Amino acid sequence: MTDLTLARDEPTPDVAADGTWLACIECGAVHAPFDAPIYRCPDCSGLLEARYAEYPTFETFAEEGRGVWRYAASLPFESGVSLPEGDTPLHAVPRLEDEIGTRTLRIKHEGMNPTGSFKDRGMTVGVRVAAELGVGRLACASTGNTSAALAAYGGRGGMQTLVLLPAGKVAAGKVAQASLHGARILEVDGNFDACLDIVAELADRGEAYLLNSLNPFRLEGQKTIGFEILERYQADYGRYPDRIVLPVGNAGNTAALYKAFRELVASGALDAEDVPKLTGVQAAGAAPMVEAIEEGAADIERWESVETRATAIRIGNPVNARKALPGIRKTGGTAVAVADDEITDAQRALASEGVGVEPASAASVAGLRKLREAGVVESDEDVVCLTTGHLLKDPDAAAAAGTEPEPVPNDTDAVLDHLRGE
Ligand SMILES: *Cc1c(COP(=O)(O)O)cnc(C)c1O
Ligand SMILES: [Zn+2]
Repeated sequence: MTDLTLARDEPTPDVAADGTWLACIECGAVHAPFDAPIYRCPDCSGLLEARYAEYPTFETFAEEGRGVWRYAASLPFESGVSLPEGDTPLHAVPRLEDEIGTRTLRIKHEGMNPTGSFKDRGMTVGVRVAAELGVGRLACASTGNTSAALAAYGGRGGMQTLVLLPAGKVAAGKVAQASLHGARILEVDGNFDACLDIVAELADRGEAYLLNSLNPFRLEGQKTIGFEILERYQADYGRYPDRIVLPVGNAGNTAALYKAFRELVASGALDAEDVPKLTGVQAAGAAPMVEAIEEGAADIERWESVETRATAIRIGNPVNARKALPGIRKTGGTAVAVADDEITDAQRALASEGVGVEPASAASVAGLRKLREAGVVESDEDVVCLTTGHLLKDPDAAAAAGTEPEPVPNDTDAVLDHLRGE
């Protein structure tokens, strides 16, 4: 049985380093966090989760500073290679709020991170851990954004970076970033899941340190999205949001947000009934998590063939499913699949209010719209949609969703004629 309970006064095991250790969510075995790289439980292959001697309250977060490392009280270290990341805007979108019909709707725009996606929050912590372990080469499989973040943070930390991408399925902006920030890029003739299989084997053979979200420390950095949302909502409205809607690929963010809330509950800072309902959205062509939620299954069934315009969530084997499925269920959330055209409509609607996001990010708003129409989300709910990556990540998708430029002659009168439709 998956054990995701965090106990406030759990005894600190001998393997702990400075009050931090890793626990297997399946068998409960505890492991040393920084002796050598480990990604799964050596005893049973279960997913690992970081555990701490103390869990944070809001008061333990620094008053000075901004972004991920302000939440050091919830992280294994005080600081790391930082660009800096986090402290992203929580946009109001009054027209969309009105149209969809919720009490409030805010957009947590993670595209405003240094490399343009939330992956930076995980990478700043992951690269800090890599330095602690003394590894030489960092690696990831990626639908694009992880590779951009890895290349930037690894490069800044003076480490070699290697990325495996599914050939022809990564948006142009992301490949450009990975390349210019200095990663060695291998294009695999296969999908993301195949890339992850290979890079996980390279890591097991000691060839590289794995920085996909299978790495439990990535998720520690991503928890800070949850802390920022709660703090901002409380400051603006004096209450917490009822629901957080987010796109789901490997389900790392879903797992990370759930962990953030569990930590606050464990410390007594948050009442269990105030935890927002985690609501996952997948593209219809890559929806194993939605399938598992609908069928009440304890784990996902891997989809061998996946397709969607939202390339960042074109994933058939979400590695964090065993952490994220309980997160969705225990918070009273749900999961929903949306068509690519619904994603593009949502991308346009966000853009018309000035919020530029890539297709996968717009899935959250498309999902909310669908759940609201179905009456699953109610009109009195306070909702936050997470938008995970910036519009410029995928310029081709943006151009295809937008309007065509109109050619005009090099002459002011002719331009005026054109504008008047003559
Ligand atoms: C990585 C990514 C996702 C998927 O996040 P998971 O944590 O893997 O579920 C969604 N959108 C964008 C833009 C991403 O880069
Ligand atoms: Zn185990």
